Amino acid sequence: MTETPNCWKCRFFKISWDPKFPYECQAMNFKSQALPCVQVIGIDGRPCQSFSPKPTADTRSKSDDRFA
Ligand code: SF4
Repeated sequence: MTETPNCWKCRFFKISWDPKFPYECQAMNFKSQALPCVQVIGIDGRPCQSFSPKPTADTRSKSDDRFA
């Protein structure tokens, strides 16, 4: 991967219940004030290795369309 992963496009990214740490990475199980991918590169020095893209409308299974 050549570019830094974008948490907003990652299936593991969530908004947390905690206003002090509003972002959450479920792959690495932590909450943060800044985007998790920014935290990871700041601590590890490397871009996040756990990025996995969110499913798109094209990749969802037919069962996901049951409410359409
Ligand atoms: S796995 Fe990486 S890209 Fe995905 S939410 Fe966590 S830090 Fe962000």
